[in-house]
Amino acid sequence: MKLIFLGPPGVGKGTQAVRICDILDIPHISTGELLREELRNDTELGHVAKGYTSQGKLVPDNLIIEMIKERLDVPDCKKGFLLDGFPRTINQAIALESITDIDMVVNIDAPHDLLLERISGRRMCSGCGKSYHISHLSSEICPDCGAKLYIREDDKIETARKRFEIYEEEFGDILDFYRKKGIIVDIDGAQTIDVVTENIIKNIGGNNK
Ligand code: ADP
Ligand code: ADP
Ligand code: ZN
Repeated sequence: MKLIFLGPPGVGKGTQAVRICDILDIPHISTGELLREELRNDTELGHVAKGYTSQGKLVPDNLIIEMIKERLDVPDCKKGFLLDGFPRTINQAIALESITDIDMVVNIDAPHDLLLERISGRRMCSGCGKSYHISHLSSEICPDCGAKLYIREDDKIETARKRFEIYEEEFGDILDFYRKKGIIVDIDGAQTIDVVTENIIKNIGGNNK
């Protein structure tokens, strides 16, 4: 199954993507995580991207499209994939059409005050890239892989607000684009993590293809 997860920063895309990819046995492709990995590996792309991500701005389309093209070329994507955080502009959505077809778009939403609360307590794993919330953690170590957790630089409140603004600007067009194709399912992201997972599975059919 070829899936896209859309939704505002902090709505739970990453958290749900890990679970759904586990169930469907498909790779989880997060452009945000790919960029953070580039930075950890000290690459030129990582440093260029940081100039944008640290201010809550979008990285230019050409860099992101090139990066996603390369990732989708890896053979593990033959069985399907889940795109998390891509496309984020209408140009990216149009470019994606010439790279691959998509089966379904999962649009997750929740009220913005809830998202700010989630973002301000987010902790990321430096090893496996999973995200956690401080309210569920008893140490600064990843419960899954044991690596150290860190706070994303762009999760500062001012930067988070900037990211919401950009989301509002871009997502109307992207939603229209996929609604016209009739492949969107809408999911309430304000529910508990387990309930959101159940609803996603129910709505996408849950069978691998
Ligand atoms: P996104 O990838 O959309 O930015 P994340 O998956 O990183 O969002 O989740 C943001 C934060 O909210 C994390 O701290 C995560 O643990 C927490 N979170 C995610 N989904 C839920 C939920 N359904 N209920 C409560 N907290 C959640
Ligand atoms: P969130 O989990 O809060 O939705 P991500 O981890 O997906 O955020 O992305 C972090 C940052 O990386 C974004 O704020 C943006 O600067 C950059 N980024 C990620 N994906 C894209 C994309 N598709 N286009 C442009 N910039 C991107
Ligand atoms: Zn980990």
